[in-house]
Amino acid sequence: MPRLVILGKQGAGKGTQCALLVNHYDIPHISTGDMLRAAVAEGTELGLKAKQIMDAGDLVSDEIILGIVEERLAHPDTEKGFLLDGFPRTDMQAQALTEMLAPAGIEVAIDIEVPDEVVTERMLARGRDDDTPEAIQRRLELYRAETAPLLNFYSEQNVLVSVDGLGSEEEVQDRIIHAIESIS
Ligand code: ADP
Repeated sequence: MPRLVILGKQGAGKGTQCALLVNHYDIPHISTGDMLRAAVAEGTELGLKAKQIMDAGDLVSDEIILGIVEERLAHPDTEKGFLLDGFPRTDMQAQALTEMLAPAGIEVAIDIEVPDEVVTERMLARGRDDDTPEAIQRRLELYRAETAPLLNFYSEQNVLVSVDGLGSEEEVQDRIIHAIESIS
């Protein structure tokens, strides 16, 4: 029952790799970014709050995110495992996740490594609302400051695998699956 977290900067190819992984393991894909964008599209109260924050490349509050994730993880479909994408992004979120899952924990945290220049180019090419040069820079800054430290958090628990994110989608996927099998 794989309980997976995917880390890696914006533009590292997480979306593509997640789609392949959830298909391979037949587990739900839980993307906080997708859930927030759905709330924005529906025009819910949450969506209205989140839209400006997201467009600026800032982080939505831990409180809001934890509420969304806790509710999603309560669905019975997560009993067969899950892939968390875009979460956790801060130390506080990672600690809260550990508590939510206790006594079980995350089995594998996957890091996809891609240089900043490459991810910036990829994001500018895809052109989402929050893919302006300013918002991209802000997201990369926040990644360095808030999310990169989580690599240590998971490494200390011996569940971190880091894979090279350069190459074809299939190559990266093979690396990820091999890495997962090597530690779980
Ligand atoms: P990206 O990885 O390209 O930033 P995401 O889809 O993961 O894209 O997230 C888009 C935006 O949604 C983020 O910039 C942020 O504003 C918000 N967001 C998503 N997940 C979180 C989270 N775990 N904590 C705080 N904000 C989040």
